[in-house]
Amino acid sequence: MALKHSPVQLAIIGGGAAGMFAAASAVKYGVSCLLMERKARLGSKVLMTANGRCNFTKDIGYDVFLRDLECSASDRETKAMAKFLAPSLADLPPRRIIAFFKALNVPVRRMADGRMFPADGKATTIVHAFGDLMRNSEVPVLTNSAVTGIQPMKSGFIVATKNFTIWAQNVLVATGGASYPKLGSVGDGQKFASLLKHRVVPMRAGLIGLETDDERIVRRAGRRYEDARAIVFSPDGRILYDYKGEVDCEPFGLSGAAVYNAQRFIEHSGIRDYTIEVWLDRERLRFSNLKSRPLKEAIVTIGGVSLEDIDPRTMESRIFPNLYFAGEVMDIDGPTGGYNLTMAFSTAHKAVASIAALGRVPRERKY
Ligand SMILES: Cc1cc2nc3c(=O)[nH]c(=O)nc-3n(C[C@H](O)[C@H](O)[C@H](O)COP(=O)(O)OP(=O)(O)OC[C@H]3O[C@@H](n4cnc5c(N)ncnc54)[C@H](O)[C@@H]3O)c2cc1C
Repeated sequence: MALKHSPVQLAIIGGGAAGMFAAASAVKYGVSCLLMERKARLGSKVLMTANGRCNFTKDIGYDVFLRDLECSASDRETKAMAKFLAPSLADLPPRRIIAFFKALNVPVRRMADGRMFPADGKATTIVHAFGDLMRNSEVPVLTNSAVTGIQPMKSGFIVATKNFTIWAQNVLVATGGASYPKLGSVGDGQKFASLLKHRVVPMRAGLIGLETDDERIVRRAGRRYEDARAIVFSPDGRILYDYKGEVDCEPFGLSGAAVYNAQRFIEHSGIRDYTIEVWLDRERLRFSNLKSRPLKEAIVTIGGVSLEDIDPRTMESRIFPNLYFAGEVMDIDGPTGGYNLTMAFSTAHKAVASIAALGRVPRERKY
């Protein structure tokens, strides 16, 4: 019998939150795929989320979700991001993500503010649920397989690693941001996108601590304040941002959800001259123009593949047909509270649903 050489319908690059959800969606839509991951196991970063507990989404409506992504009513950057994400979130809103995990027999737990966790408080339960689905559905998973290049062909792409190449009709880049590089996300997808003529918005740290050697903080290192608050003021004393939530004192300065979200606001709004006030119990402490900790320690990467080069209705590149993006590799980021995993899941689902809707034949290139 003569064996036919044919491309795989979809090569998913990156086995993190977006890549695993893409594989699950491919199973659902009957798209044949394989998953390539540079680390020895899938979901290394997912395992680290929420201190190993995995706050996988927030149980809120999709319109509230999109509004929460905006740092302020006047912030153009996050407004554009919310607009870009609307079609993905409409198709796969938080309640469908919750239903997805329940259907995989993951008992879930809802916190009073809507944050959702696996009921046993273990991120491994989430990663294992994806692993079981892939095993039972015979999705080929190639670990220890760092993709080194994506070469567009007249029909489809050649996806290269050090040891082998794969011919794929469609490629989904789900390689994550550039924070916590030890967990696998080292900015490869942004490099591939750039080589393929996509614009890449400079990457910087999001949801990260702020540095201060102020004695009042340093001597409190290790203490957590759950009912705290962080407020950002303009030089003329106007409140620009106000968030009630946890503030933690660290040897380097400040962290915790309220500080992270305030830092995200500061980074997106581009203000360089500001005052941040934190309330710890009844004490108010004020600081000016604090420096963020480095990108490698950030919860999320701000910046990435420009949303202007991706079609929000499909997640397909506007530059190369049949090339798709999902998750943090793109210029998307959200506040703390399950937003970032939700965006990874929803954009991955959107990309695979689009591939399924287009059928199996790649479009002819015109270059
Ligand atoms: C400490 C920490 C806690 C967090 N907690 C939460 C939380 O509780 N809730 C929440 O919503 N978000 C949380 N986040 C953010 C969330 O984890 C990320 O936004 C999310 O994982 C992004 O998904 P992704 O698939 O785009 O990227 P990732 O999950 O980073 O996955 C990318 C994958 O691609 C692989 N890869 C990279 N390059 C290549 C290559 N060349 N070839 C093959 N594979 C490659 C990587 O090894 C990695 O496995 C947290 C992040 C951190 C760092």
